[in-house]
Amino acid sequence: MGTVFSRIIRAEIPAYKIAEDDRYFAFLDINPLKAGHTLVIPKQETDYIFDLDDGTLAGMVIFSKKVAAAIKKAFPCNRIGMAVLGLEVPHAHIHLVPIDSLEDMNFRNPKLKFSQDEFSSIAEKIRSKIDF
Ligand code: AMP
Repeated sequence: MGTVFSRIIRAEIPAYKIAEDDRYFAFLDINPLKAGHTLVIPKQETDYIFDLDDGTLAGMVIFSKKVAAAIKKAFPCNRIGMAVLGLEVPHAHIHLVPIDSLEDMNFRNPKLKFSQDEFSSIAEKIRSKIDF
């Protein structure tokens, strides 16, 4: 069956997709800290990010860089914060969060609630800025 994120890659579970290539997949975090909060995952299912082989890890950061550029265009902010926690889902992932202050990246903050339409339009806004 695999992790919930592998099931998202296989489209067995719905997600607000942002981008995909042969090795990586990006989609909106369903419990966002900010509008545009996105997760980047490798298609190769590995729990701990630092267990990824060097090439996969490096490629994941480069893929994240492209996604981050699109998020920043769609949701203007000081910068895109990048974080790795991995305490909840055992499938390596990078959080990309538009931030203007340290507080915006506080994972203890209450998460935002969006309707399906709002999530869809956030995803579409970012997808329209993707330049791969
Ligand atoms: P962590 O493993 O601590 O980095 O947190 C996992 C993140 O994945 C959390 O921010 C969750 O909101 C997010 N998440 C869990 N399940 C889903 C899902 N089905 N779709 C989108 N995001 C998810």
